[in-house]
Amino acid sequence: MARSGRCVVAVDGPSGSGKSTVSRRLAAELGAGYLDTGAMYRAITWAVLRSGVELTDADAVAKVAADVDLRIGTDPQGYHVTADGVTVDAEIRGPEVTGAVSAVSAVPTVRTMLVEHQRAIIDQLGRIVVEGRDIAGVVAPDADLKVFLTASAAARAARRSAEIAADVAATAEDLARRDRLDSTRKASPLQKAADAVELDTTELGIDEVVARLREMLNSKGVA
Ligand code: C5P
Repeated sequence: MARSGRCVVAVDGPSGSGKSTVSRRLAAELGAGYLDTGAMYRAITWAVLRSGVELTDADAVAKVAADVDLRIGTDPQGYHVTADGVTVDAEIRGPEVTGAVSAVSAVPTVRTMLVEHQRAIIDQLGRIVVEGRDIAGVVAPDADLKVFLTASAAARAARRSAEIAADVAATAEDLARRDRLDSTRKASPLQKAADAVELDTTELGIDEVVARLREMLNSKGVA
């Protein structure tokens, strides 16, 4: 049973599974906060690229991550991410960051730091939908609802390419590369937590997925 007023929803899954759209919508409907943990890894990656350190130098990457003043908003209607005072909302979605983020997020010290930061935000808000890769298993193992969204590779590539206005074949390749790196890394690889509910969104619209999550919350008596 949730602590009074508290409602933490963990939404994990690979890119293009519908995580961001569903999480934002659900948070808005619940009047809860929203935390995009992928944006945090992306912002650290932006700082690493800007610093010029080698992505393969884990110690140097960790040092940059430790020194960055990372801030992220939690409004599901729109939020900003800043690194050392620079707003990086657009930069973190670009191809350079997308190409390097899996290497940076595989560094254990970077993960430890960001997990701590994420837990502080969750504790502060209490009511929040958190999306990522390791939320149910590592960041918020006591979440009230844990969902693992999936979708066929073709559906995921089609969604992502529409979002970023890119070629479907190139996007499919990039997703496959990131999935492989994110699923095979040693530190908190992408995988469904044993107690998470898996939902295949290939044939489902956003409204339907959100409605199902609300039903799950209602049946647990938390929303
Ligand atoms: O969700 P998004 O695609 O923006 O995430 C970007 C990258 O950040 C992922 O490919 C993954 O390497 C990393 N990530 C992670 N753990 C999270 C969220 C994202 O490792 N909780």
